[in-house]
Amino acid sequence: MKHIYKWDGHTHTHYCRHGADASVKEYVKRAMELGFERYSITEHPPLPDGYLQNVDVMNQLAMPYDELDRYVVEMAAIKQQFSREIDVRVGLEIDFLPGCEAYTRTLLAHVSHALDEILVSVHFLPGREGMRCIDLSPEDFMEGLVAHYGSVASVIHTYFDHVEAAISFASTLEIPVRMGHLALIEKFRDALPAFDDALVRARLTRLLPLIKAAGVGVDCNVAGFRKATCRRPYVPVWWMARALREEIPLVFGSDAHSPGDVGADWAWFEQVIQGCEFDVSH
Ligand SMILES: [Zn+2]
Ligand SMILES: [Zn+2]
Repeated sequence: MKHIYKWDGHTHTHYCRHGADASVKEYVKRAMELGFERYSITEHPPLPDGYLQNVDVMNQLAMPYDELDRYVVEMAAIKQQFSREIDVRVGLEIDFLPGCEAYTRTLLAHVSHALDEILVSVHFLPGREGMRCIDLSPEDFMEGLVAHYGSVASVIHTYFDHVEAAISFASTLEIPVRMGHLALIEKFRDALPAFDDALVRARLTRLLPLIKAAGVGVDCNVAGFRKATCRRPYVPVWWMARALREEIPLVFGSDAHSPGDVGADWAWFEQVIQGCEFDVSH
């Protein structure tokens, strides 16, 4: 049996309003109970003012700007506090914000001295009446995106166009990056009409050489297992096998929004990596 480095690379905190109130220490203690060797804290940073039309949704998604400094100081203290027991990494889950790349660069320049790594994720696409989330609810997806683009297939294409742009953006950042949940577009797949698996597969395949060339890693995000409309990870097993052959770093990510979700479905990830010929799972 290969030793698979036990690392949860994608977790949230009370700084995002859609997460639990639990303290970050409870998350870290849960990771230690489960035998994790490394734990990455990857909260959503603030969004630009007025980025979404819906202010209530926006306030749920990310911390206000004036909390960012407190976040990095608090997480650095936790890293220090547990440093003898577990390797805590301080990070952020950055959004790829088309048209607002300068905003993200400024934000990162402000806090990157305090960060070990980041995730770059696509959660937003242009849609009806401005930017829309892809992961709020099937109803919102239909109303804000499918009605705007005319078909689910067209939304899938637009999503992967944005992921490709996000990869080239990520390749310019001077900090270790993993691409967040590449197949997040599958979150509501079972609730959407005519969800085209072959299209998703073709677009995911196209990402392999781009990710390899960009020198970034990938978040093997298991939150999709916990969604009734998805019930699968946000990176398919066939893709992981090909990525390992290409020596693309793969890191497990629970995307925990409560301590109970830390390390969820680690056994699935471990089994996939055990079954693969190559191991660059860290
Ligand atoms: Zn995310
Ligand atoms: Zn996340």
